[in-house]
Amino acid sequence: MPITLTTASVRSILTRSSGYLKSVCSHSLQPYRGCSFGNSLCGVGCYARHNRFVTRGAQWGRFLEVRENAASVYLAQRDRERRWAREHRGGFSVFMSSATDPFVPHERRFGVTRGVLKAMIEKPPDALIIQTHTHLAEHHLDLFRPLARCCRLRVHISIESDRDRLPGLPPPASPVRRRLEAAARLREAGIPVVITVAPLLPIGDPEAFFDTIAACADAVVIDHFIGGDGSPAGSRTLRTALPAAMAAVDARSVDLAYRDAMVAKARQRMPGRVGVGVDGFAGRLVP
Ligand code: SF4
Repeated sequence: MPITLTTASVRSILTRSSGYLKSVCSHSLQPYRGCSFGNSLCGVGCYARHNRFVTRGAQWGRFLEVRENAASVYLAQRDRERRWAREHRGGFSVFMSSATDPFVPHERRFGVTRGVLKAMIEKPPDALIIQTHTHLAEHHLDLFRPLARCCRLRVHISIESDRDRLPGLPPPASPVRRRLEAAARLREAGIPVVITVAPLLPIGDPEAFFDTIAACADAVVIDHFIGGDGSPAGSRTLRTALPAAMAAVDARSVDLAYRDAMVAKARQRMPGRVGVGVDGFAGRLVP
């Protein structure tokens, strides 16, 4: 399906966090509007697809706005926003990204995220969480290394299950195996890596899955669409095709009790390295 590509000059790139992200970071940063992974597996239950400020009425996965001045706007906003964040939020921490993927395939052509990362090396935040669904993150190790020296960096790689496919749904943006390999590569290079199992999908062999994660990441965060999609009782996700596909594989997986069961298994394999829901995203792990 073709994607409509546009470019834009934005006036602001640092958004003061609210809602789910408020206890995770002081700001979010979206180098792109929209996401070219929107028609892959993660796009089916993607929370951003329900945000009308993001979609502006367009179909999710069918548009991408390239924010070509993102790096220069970051540099222009950084000092003021850092002052505000240190005064009101206990530090200037940036989450990149909550409504797009910083490493969409178009990044290779446009380099907006790379531009922002270079700007952050020049003027670092106090903390940076890079959130991605793709192994393509591993191509940016050359920038992660200096960033890890000048701010508290965490790379979050989403891996929702050990399965690549759910019945009737599209394939993932990046195979599970490739994402695990990317995690291992980054961690070996000294970059703090967190696997975000979010939203949690039915896992075929939880013990083996968490053992694999234990070997290639510093921590794991588990979040269910119930309580994690920003709507009461997961009502946003319940309007999508995701829950039926999950239930077809494992009927228990659509209940919150399934998350708790997976958290218990993860804690057995990775004691002290497991986070749950928003606390996990914020780096607050279960003791
Ligand atoms: S990569 Fe992230 S923002 Fe893009 S469709 Fe998937 S979940 Fe949504």
